[in-house]
Amino acid sequence: MYRMLLLKSQAKKMAGDPGDKVPDQSEKETPAETVSSLEDQSAEPSNESPDPEQETEDFRVDESILWEVPENNDSENSTVDLKTGAMGGPILENGNYQIFSSLNPDKSIDVAGGAKYNGGNVQIYDNNESNAQIWKLEYNNADGFYSIQNIGSGKYLDVTGAKVANGSNIQQYTGNGTKAQKWQLVQTNAGYKIVSALNNAYVIDLAGANTSNGANIQLYQNNNTKAQSWVFWKVIDQIAYLDQLASQNKNVLKDGSYTIRNVGTGKYMNVNQSSSGANVNLVSSANQDSQKWQVQHDGKGYVTLINLSSGKVLDVTGASSMNGTNVQQYAGNGTRAQKWVAVKNGEAYHLVSALTSRVRLNANGANVDIELNKGTNAVQAWIFASTLSTRDTVNQVAASNKGSISDGFYEIQSGINSKFVLDVAAAVTEVGTNVQLYSANGTNAQKYKIVTDGLGYSTIMNVHSKKYLGVASGARNGSNLQLSDHLADQWNEKWIFGKNSDGTYKIMSALNTAFVIDVLSGIGANGQNVQIYQSNGTNAQKFKLVKQNMTDQSTQFSNSNLAYKWVPAHTNNYTVGREGCLITNITIHHMDGRATAESCGGVFQNPNREASAHYGIGYNGEICQYVAEKDTAWANANWESNKHSVTIENSDWTLAPEYKITDATLNSLIRLVADIASRNHLGKLIYGQNINVHGDVAATSCPGPYIRQKLSQIIASSNKLNGFF
Ligand SMILES: [Zn+2]
Repeated sequence: MYRMLLLKSQAKKMAGDPGDKVPDQSEKETPAETVSSLEDQSAEPSNESPDPEQETEDFRVDESILWEVPENNDSENSTVDLKTGAMGGPILENGNYQIFSSLNPDKSIDVAGGAKYNGGNVQIYDNNESNAQIWKLEYNNADGFYSIQNIGSGKYLDVTGAKVANGSNIQQYTGNGTKAQKWQLVQTNAGYKIVSALNNAYVIDLAGANTSNGANIQLYQNNNTKAQSWVFWKVIDQIAYLDQLASQNKNVLKDGSYTIRNVGTGKYMNVNQSSSGANVNLVSSANQDSQKWQVQHDGKGYVTLINLSSGKVLDVTGASSMNGTNVQQYAGNGTRAQKWVAVKNGEAYHLVSALTSRVRLNANGANVDIELNKGTNAVQAWIFASTLSTRDTVNQVAASNKGSISDGFYEIQSGINSKFVLDVAAAVTEVGTNVQLYSANGTNAQKYKIVTDGLGYSTIMNVHSKKYLGVASGARNGSNLQLSDHLADQWNEKWIFGKNSDGTYKIMSALNTAFVIDVLSGIGANGQNVQIYQSNGTNAQKFKLVKQNMTDQSTQFSNSNLAYKWVPAHTNNYTVGREGCLITNITIHHMDGRATAESCGGVFQNPNREASAHYGIGYNGEICQYVAEKDTAWANANWESNKHSVTIENSDWTLAPEYKITDATLNSLIRLVADIASRNHLGKLIYGQNINVHGDVAATSCPGPYIRQKLSQIIASSNKLNGFF
């Protein structure tokens, strides 16, 4: 359907208009002249009701316009001596208009059922911008009257039977040039009267001042009520107008993530669910991604708002432009129901619907809908505050807390009472086993291997079960702490250790750092449950990390069973131990030559070589070990990286430039990577996080183009072997 825009027409003053002398007249127009933007000029529907006294006065003024006009020769044999229009010229320019009741700016003069026939009734109806509601206004210079022709039917607004009487029906009829189809417009303070050329004491009237759909339009004696006052909106091409508005405003709001606060209610736009059709409402805080929206402009300057939590788009339900239509989220579909023009208004923005500029995003209590332009009313003003997604925010917190705890084995004591520690119930090793407080007993069920990755995220592995502390049901108060398998959503089993001034730690969830590990009800007791809860700084959320000297090396380090032979590197070429660090990474190298695993090991036995690696793979796919994993090989030319990494040399098959390796080498590499990751509990391998190549940590082209090209396959295949998909 061809959508239309309605522009309030500026009334042209009639020459010698007595209204000019009345001060109220100019005051009344002031609001419309203060609006600055194009959008705001389309704004002013007649929903600003003047106070009743003012109204009476203004109507008296209008009466003088109507009745005190100079005489003119009337060529027609009118029963009433009326020539106002002819003297002053047109009060509204010719064109297409929608005609709204001054009683209700969303109700329009309408041909019932969009009838095309003579006698079709004329009524009041909800604005739907259909052609049944669009009227062509044409001024006749010869007699000073307007004809009012319906666009949908081509018929004219007509007094049935040309009968001048209260209640005489108004219908549509084929144009016949009679006075039953001629009208004069007279300005009121709220719009215009439509005066019949049959008798200027009679005007178009909304029967019973009833604004219900279908209420009749009739002829009635002028009584200066709003039931006889009409607002004319000029119809122009809506899409062209909105396109222009969008283009003009495309730079006023930058693309990015925002919280969106309604000025009128002080509340933030929110959606609670992820599904299409979920309602958009207003809530008092904006900490979660469900209260954050990504602003995206299209090429024309229209704005789309995407919820950061659901990925769904702010959407006008049913693409209806009706006043009061609800606003929801929906899967992005690029329609005008999902587009807006952001128009700056002071510090705030109006969001004009791309469906029609008559409506804007509006706060209706705690709900969000579209409603007719309310000018500067704060319920249609929105403050956009730049924000980060939760992931970006958490990443920043992780980075700033990186190094707050060194990798190692710990007991985790409660800040309520240090004799209670984090304990895996009954030392069970199943995924989902509850984590609780219990009196310290020195068993591995109460010891944890804590390792922090390059981004500052830590994992907390229970030594006895080799399972990880994880959050059971997302970032919310009361979400339980339990053993997790390191398979599902990774963020629920990652943590950020924030050091308190007293040396204790708050242990923040990597899902959302607003939530931290918390002892239920702050009670120190055997069996007391442990959960996550919003950070509140109480002792229930403070933990003392006590480093453990693990006598059992097998809980820390092991070596691969895939190596067929030990070829120990010379002790000059590596460092015993890892300076307390744990293995968090695998680094891949190439030998820069074709060699067997054993001959490569021979190179590291040279006491002056000052280099080594943990493993090497020959061109037949055979694996040798050179340095124990508990020790630090000198492979990466980067000490920090060496301390945390297990390193693998691979024999080349071809030399520069490709440095291809054989499929046998490739297959062994995949198996060895999977084995190292599994024994060291690295979890799912992610490039740059817990697996890399030499060139990532030092200035070298090692391991050459071919291995780099195969890297994603190596990682994916290794993950698959370990059950990560
Ligand atoms: Zn290398």
